[in-house]
Amino acid sequence: MLYRIAAAVNATYGLAVAWTYIAAFVLALGMIFIFPPGTLLVFFIGLASLGLAVALGKVIDAITRSMARRSMASGRCPRCRDVLALISHGDESPAICALCGSAFTSDGGETIASEQPHFVNQPEDDDRNDESDVVADAHLAGR
Ligand SMILES: [Zn+2]
Repeated sequence: MLYRIAAAVNATYGLAVAWTYIAAFVLALGMIFIFPPGTLLVFFIGLASLGLAVALGKVIDAITRSMARRSMASGRCPRCRDVLALISHGDESPAICALCGSAFTSDGGETIASEQPHFVNQPEDDDRNDESDVVADAHLAGR
């Protein structure tokens, strides 16, 4: 539960920061004609807080990953607490949860399961090359 909150915050943080800066830009633009020193103030606050915003994002990411690693070490899926197959350190293939489909790398990062080789290396049944199925299907369809 706690991991899901952390992961959601981690996932939306970058966009939230981006929108905050866009809002600050609009505010600064609007103040040019009304209160010019305000524009400078918003500009310098934005510039000074940029490093802090990036650092905070890295901290949130590190916390989320450490929570995922701790959960995976106890053999549980960080997202749904179902039993998760263990992965060895340095292993390239991620652990994929059978229940919720979440995929995790060994460093605790969440990844996308559809990009994994398991789904790419399907048996090649395209090589059969029998057109009789196509003809039969066309016949059934009335063409
Ligand atoms: Zn799961």
